[in-house]
Amino acid sequence: DFLKEANPGIQGLMPYQPGKPVDEVARELGLDPERIVKLASNENPHGPSPKAVAAIQAELTELTRYPDGSGFRLKQLLSHELGISPRQITLGNGSNDLLDLIARCWLAPGRNAVYSDYAFAVYPIATQAAGAEHKIIPAVNWGHDLDAMAAAVDEQTSVVFVANPNNPTGTWLSEKQVRDFLDQVPERVLVVLDEAYFEYVDENVYPDGLKLLDDYPNLIVCRTFSKAYGLAGLRVGYSLSSTQIAETLNRVRQPFNANALALAAAEAAYQDREYLERSVITNKAGLLQLETAFRELGLDYIPSVGNFICVEVDDGERVNAALLKEGVIVRPLRPYRMPNHLRVSVGLPEENQQFIDALSKVL
Ligand code: PMP
Repeated sequence: DFLKEANPGIQGLMPYQPGKPVDEVARELGLDPERIVKLASNENPHGPSPKAVAAIQAELTELTRYPDGSGFRLKQLLSHELGISPRQITLGNGSNDLLDLIARCWLAPGRNAVYSDYAFAVYPIATQAAGAEHKIIPAVNWGHDLDAMAAAVDEQTSVVFVANPNNPTGTWLSEKQVRDFLDQVPERVLVVLDEAYFEYVDENVYPDGLKLLDDYPNLIVCRTFSKAYGLAGLRVGYSLSSTQIAETLNRVRQPFNANALALAAAEAAYQDREYLERSVITNKAGLLQLETAFRELGLDYIPSVGNFICVEVDDGERVNAALLKEGVIVRPLRPYRMPNHLRVSVGLPEENQQFIDALSKVL
């Protein structure tokens, strides 16, 4: 029994459950794939930036070569735009890769990671795979209880994961809340501020993790090209931290973790301001469209600042199965211990409408 032979931490893990691909749902239910709408993985509904597509095409002739393992050009660009040293930037094969690198560097048997209930599913995976324990702190109003999280930090804690905004709940933390929290956490504990949905948030008091780095040397900020930059399929993310933290990650990073097409596309997408702005505007309008519909249907929802929103139904599994039959893929949240909630990603207006129509039909 090779599962029993695996590292102890892995034995209790469940595999990450991604949103079902359109083709699989079409085949299972005998539906026309063209008529299926997938709002399950917080992807950008606009398709990739045309500039990223062009950059990929230009890169194709170079595919016999290894990518630039240091990500020189992308790091130069980020460094220039963000006003920090390239040595403070680490590139990942998606920001998931960075979360995993962090766990491999700082977690181990005998140590623990602190994170909130209803937090992103990769935190437990990375933590347990590293053989560490976890302390899951009850949420307040579906969001992080930062005071309780700070209080839970003990001698064995080496990492705290904080997502702002949080996935799947879409809740967010103000700059004051984050600073008060960081003030309470001992400097030897690494705080991961996961800003996968950073670009979507325009709340006044929402903090920019980058600006906290000077005050908190134990902070690492993770961002991604998967969401507002529309490149989920390429897998590229980056972290911002002290050079010491970045150099530690670099010791265990796979030499070519960000591939050549991903590097080229990320560089182009990052410079396509118009695409980013359009994505953020579409998202804002889409959130409003969904919230309005939920209110009209008399459904409770968790106010969100991400590119997704959680709506409460009587039975998430049943409504999810019924929506699938209508050709709408969303994310049931039973694995997150939210069995009555569905998370729906914000799509184009007509995709949101298709979801709303299907939802009102199946309720
Ligand atoms: N953090 C959070 C909070 C997320 O929701 C996601 C994507 N689901 C990620 C990190 C990872 O994104 P990626 O690996 O595509 O960069």
